[in-house]
Amino acid sequence: MALSTGKLELSIIIPVYNEAENLAHLFARLETVLQQIGEPYEIVCINDGSHDATLPSLLAHRHRNPAIRVVNLSRNFGKEVALTAGLDYASGAAVIPIDADLQDPPELIGELLGKWREGYDVVYATRRSRQGESWLKRWTARAFYRTVEKISDTPIPRDTGDFRLLDRRVVEVLKQLPERTRFMKGLFAWVGFSQTAVFFDREPRRGGRTTWNYWKLWNFALDGITSFSLVPLKVWGYAGLSISALSLLYASFLILRTLILGIDVPGYASLMVAVLFFGGIQLLSLGIMGEYLARVYQEVKGRPLYVVRDCYGFEASGVPVPPLALWDDPALPTVTDPTSKR
Ligand code: UDP
Ligand code: MG
Repeated sequence: MALSTGKLELSIIIPVYNEAENLAHLFARLETVLQQIGEPYEIVCINDGSHDATLPSLLAHRHRNPAIRVVNLSRNFGKEVALTAGLDYASGAAVIPIDADLQDPPELIGELLGKWREGYDVVYATRRSRQGESWLKRWTARAFYRTVEKISDTPIPRDTGDFRLLDRRVVEVLKQLPERTRFMKGLFAWVGFSQTAVFFDREPRRGGRTTWNYWKLWNFALDGITSFSLVPLKVWGYAGLSISALSLLYASFLILRTLILGIDVPGYASLMVAVLFFGGIQLLSLGIMGEYLARVYQEVKGRPLYVVRDCYGFEASGVPVPPLALWDDPALPTVTDPTSKR
């Protein structure tokens, strides 16, 4: 059942990084949907160290609609961390993270809320199709989700991004997870609770460019796999065991052969092959140990996940507000209502 806080019903969380050109359309579509729903809401925007006009634009929108609240991080921390900050600052009974580039249709929010009111704690939006993405991106995404599905300790739903509805009690659990490697999709799945899916077609990015190149995606995939699976770490024990068993057999064969046929010197090729092969395997397994060790190291350092430079609009909600609030100034230039521009 939905937990009622008695006040704010709905929080939308938007991590934003250099999205200035999308904001007007985003808010126009989002606000139309939210007005139709008619519940009290807040839109928590996390400015993740953008270096375009995103922050002034967000603040101008906030000036127009005070339900838009802004948390300004001190630099770019990455989407997963920005999302975590959003969860910390959101105060609604239902919380919905959504991308700023309109790849997640705001029109689906009504449907997500409907399922939540039926009693589900997590309603995730699963992509039926991904438009505007290259076959390589689609294929790698597919391969990634399938791999994670096979080796992860917690089942992570396929083709599902961060666009979903989370009940307040789920958010409270997520806020308590201390880990620094924030693979949100995995964490969302790990918490459990009653979950269900709604389906949608993923649209192409509206404007700007994705900041995810393949190197970032690869690292993201590594984060996902290493934080939710121990298989890569454990498999080397078995590999070592089978290789040792085989070499033992081979050694007995060599001894027998030497005893029967005498000593023969040739064997450079097989020796080289064996040395190189095992050298490679050893480096690979060491590298994988390193991947896990690096993450353990990160956790041990215990740094805060993000640093907030300033935030706007949280005075009433009890979340501590840092003293610097440069932009929350009534003299700020206003923007025209984006709905009228369409
Ligand atoms: N984003 C962010 N910090 C980053 C990169 C992205 O907050 O370092 C935000 C971005 O503004 C957008 C969302 O995360 O709202 C998804 O980013 P993007 O569209 O680049 O990812 P994709 O859709 O390709 O997965
Ligand atoms: Mg996108």
